[in-house]
Amino acid sequence: MRDARRRIPAVHHVLAAGRLPELRGLYGHAPVKEAVEAVLARLRERLAAAGGSGPGDAGVNLAPEAVARLVEEEVERAMAPSLRRVINATGVVLHTNLGRAVLSDSARLAVQEAAGAYSNLELDLASGERGSRHDHVEGLLCRLTGAEAAMVVNNNAAAVLLTLTALAAGREVIVSRGELVEIGGSFRIPEVMAQSGARLVEVGTTNKTRTEDYRRAIGPDTGLLLKVHPSNYRIVGFTAAVALEELVAIGREAGIPVMYDMGSGALIPLDRYGLPGEPVAWEAIAAGAGIITFSGDKLLGGPQAGVIAGRRDLVERCRRHPLARALRVDKMTLAALEATLKHYRDPDAAMAAVPVLRMLTMPPEELAARADELAGLILARAGGAARVEVCPGLSQVGGGSLPGTELPTTLVAVVPERLSVNALAARLRQSRPAVVARIEGGRLLLDPRTLLPGDAAAVATALARALS
Ligand SMILES: *Cc1c(COP(=O)(O)O)cnc(C)c1O
Repeated sequence: MRDARRRIPAVHHVLAAGRLPELRGLYGHAPVKEAVEAVLARLRERLAAAGGSGPGDAGVNLAPEAVARLVEEEVERAMAPSLRRVINATGVVLHTNLGRAVLSDSARLAVQEAAGAYSNLELDLASGERGSRHDHVEGLLCRLTGAEAAMVVNNNAAAVLLTLTALAAGREVIVSRGELVEIGGSFRIPEVMAQSGARLVEVGTTNKTRTEDYRRAIGPDTGLLLKVHPSNYRIVGFTAAVALEELVAIGREAGIPVMYDMGSGALIPLDRYGLPGEPVAWEAIAAGAGIITFSGDKLLGGPQAGVIAGRRDLVERCRRHPLARALRVDKMTLAALEATLKHYRDPDAAMAAVPVLRMLTMPPEELAARADELAGLILARAGGAARVEVCPGLSQVGGGSLPGTELPTTLVAVVPERLSVNALAARLRQSRPAVVARIEGGRLLLDPRTLLPGDAAAVATALARALS
C-alpha cells in the first residue's frame, strides 16, 4: 500500500513554512509546535479514515505550505483572548454578563498608566513613608458623599461582607423582611450575613415594616440596623417601609449605627434627568447613615469596586479588619475609580463624560437618528437578505438598578429571510467583534442606546456576513 500517511510532512518542515516562523516570533515556539502536532494528528486520522487506499490523499493537500495554513488558523484560535470585545446592542446599559459599565476615556487612560509603570500606590511621596492605597480616592469620596471617611474594596458584595463582619460579627443585625434581597443569583443578604458571623434578625413582613418593628427587636446584642436598597425589584400595592431618617432616629435613641447598602449608589440625583428613585449617596450620609456601601460599576459608571463610606470610627474598624486585605482593590481599579470620581466634581461634566450616564440620558431624537443610521447601514449591506424596520421600543437600565424604569428608545428590527432569528443571533455572537442583541416576537432587535462610536458600522458588517 502506498500509504499517503507517509507523505505527511515532518514537523520541522511545517514549522519553517508559510507564516509560521513569524508566528513563532510572536507567540513563542511551544504553542506553534503544539498546533503543528495537533493538525498533523488530525490529517493522519483523516487519511486513516479514508482507508489509505489508492494513490489519492483523501483530498488532503499535504504540501508543507498548505499544512502551515491550517496551523496558522489553529494558532490564532488558541492564542485569541477568551475575554474579548462584544458589541452590546441589547440596550441594557448595565449588563452584568457584558461587564457592566464601560469606562470613560480618562478612566481608561488612567488604567493604562497604572498598569504599565510603578506608582505611589502605597507610598507617601512627600514624606517617603508608607501610605495607604485608600488615600487615592478617600478625599474625593468624602467630598462627593459628605462622609468623614471612606475606603474601597473589590465590589459591593465585599463591602457588605466586610462591613457586617467588622462592625457586627457575633452580634445581631436587624433587617426588614422586605429588604432581604438576592442580587444576581449569588448575593443574598441572609447568606452574606451568615458568612459575616452576624446574626440576622428579621422584622416586619414582606410588604410592610414599621418603626415599632425595629424598636421591639432592639436588644443588648444589637450591633447594627441594616437598610438594603431593593435594587432589582419593587414591592407595590399595600406597602410600608421605614425611611432612612426614621431608622436613624431609632438608632440614635438606642446608640446603634445604621448601615445602608445602597446597591447602585448614585452620586448625583438622576430624577432631573428622568431617572427617578435611585438613592443618592450624599443624601444618605446627610440623613445620618453611619455607614453606606455601593458599587463602583453600576450607576457610578466606574470599575468593579465596592465603596464603604461613613463615620470615621466605623470605616476605621473596616480598614483594620484582616478581611480588608483579602478584599482589597488593585492599582488599576483605583486608577479607574479616581478618574471616574473626578468627573463628578461637576455634575454636568459627569453627565457628558461617563458613558453609563450618557447612555441613560440619551435624548429620544438622538436615539431615533442613530436607529435610522443603523437601519440605513444594514439595508445598504444586507438589505436583500432580511426585512429591516425602525420601531419604537424600551431599553432597560439593568445591573439591578432602577427596577421597572424603562427608557423609551428607537429600535432596529431585523427579520432574516432565509435563516431563523435564533440562528442569526447565534452567528452574530460568534462574529468578531461579537454582537449581542435581543430577540422578541421572532425579530432581532438592535437598540442604539448601548452602541459605542463605530459600533453601528461593525454591526452592519457582522449582519451582512451572518445573513449571507
Ligand atoms: C448590586 C448590589 C449588590 C452587589 O454589588 P456588586 O458590586 O455587584 O458586588 C449588593 N447590594 C445591593 C443592594 C445591590 O444592588
